[in-house]
Amino acid sequence: MPQRLLVLGSTGSIGESTLDVVSRNADAFVVHALTAHRNIERLFKQCLKFRPALAIVSEPHHAIELQANLQSVGLKTEVYCGAQALCTAASAADYDTVVAAIVGAAGLPPVLSAARAGKKILLANKEALVMSGALFMDTAAKSGAVIVPVDSEHNAIFQCLHGAQKAPGEIERLILTASGGPFRTRPVHTLDQVTPDEACAHPNWRMGRKISVDSATMMNKGLELIEARWLFDIGAERIEALIHPQSIIHSMVVFRDQSVLAQLGTPDMRTPIAHALAYPQRMASGVEPLDLAKVATLTFEKPDLTRFPCLALAQQVIREGGGMSTVLNAANEVAVEAFLARRIRFTDIARVVDGVLQKNTGASVRSFEDVMATDEQSRQMGHEAVQRLCHSTAYFVSKPNHSSLSRS
Ligand code: NDP
Repeated sequence: MPQRLLVLGSTGSIGESTLDVVSRNADAFVVHALTAHRNIERLFKQCLKFRPALAIVSEPHHAIELQANLQSVGLKTEVYCGAQALCTAASAADYDTVVAAIVGAAGLPPVLSAARAGKKILLANKEALVMSGALFMDTAAKSGAVIVPVDSEHNAIFQCLHGAQKAPGEIERLILTASGGPFRTRPVHTLDQVTPDEACAHPNWRMGRKISVDSATMMNKGLELIEARWLFDIGAERIEALIHPQSIIHSMVVFRDQSVLAQLGTPDMRTPIAHALAYPQRMASGVEPLDLAKVATLTFEKPDLTRFPCLALAQQVIREGGGMSTVLNAANEVAVEAFLARRIRFTDIARVVDGVLQKNTGASVRSFEDVMATDEQSRQMGHEAVQRLCHSTAYFVSKPNHSSLSRS
């Protein structure tokens, strides 16, 4: 029986890679539903190719336009809009597997609906787990939902653990590798001059803009440490980040007997996506084979927390626990958005997050309502911090020779 798929965020980087793998294994899947925020041109093209029963967008006027375009070519895809439509689709009985590839907090409500409904969840949207780790994992455990991580590091660890007995104490440590992003060797004193395009130019991976900035600050690795803590139910003190600039080893598990298992591959998200889609089997991904002779050298180094203060903030949040990761995620989303809009400097991202964390010490979240309230409150504080920094910096208007840096 083909798997019936709901792809949340099908127009993004992970969504497109997912549909590429699906099209290479067409007999194995029926694409039941596709969703986008605003990119209705790309969603229209995807509907033409995959003929889903449902398409969902955020705004009513986009839904009307998309529905008219689909009808004009004779497609019967039903179009809905809004956050509630995502949750309704995610909890419906007429699909098996959800690919959670919406970026940021907007992905949490539908992925929680899918968890309640006991679906197979291919989790790319790490922010959902960072915001609500305990709640999300408890919900999945109660319903029997199966979570297969898509994030390459967590997918690597998942693959290393497959078949291993997980008696208490058997796993000594998890090592999450990190490329170090585009600024691993750039002089630290120039980081306040970084532009959004420079921050999004990742050396090894092609990704959406938000996760690209997170990789440049290494907040991405911080979010992943939190993600790993929940996915693999292991104490935060036993999860570490290690810089590996070639991005060939995607992560490692150190066992009690000091065996270290690693998963390797060409840096292309279609490998973890294909693994997660086919799990527990395997399928073709379209990824270039790994040529280790060509790679020649694999290197490793400890992350420099002075260069990457966002990673230090995430590590602090893991130690504090409670609702602090919800606060961290919200503040980071606000700060990254402000940086991409050229309202604050690259180095201000850590300042905004730090300021919001300091105002929220002791935040706790027990229910979905708590998570959303903490998220909302932290976003508000984040916006206020951005506002203060906008007033205190003349950076983007004081560089007449860099017209591309001007505020729009
Ligand atoms: P993109 O920005 O490329 O895509 C995001 C998707 O979410 C798009 O389909 C977008 O629609 C949709 N979307 C954005 N905002 C909303 C909203 N408010 N409501 C509904 N849908 C929305 O992101 P990526 O694909 O890069 O990342 C997606 C997730 O996967 C992130 O959580 C990221 O951390 C994670 N991830 C990504 C990796 C990668 O290689 N890209 C690797 C590992 C994890 P539209 O196109 O219309 O804007």
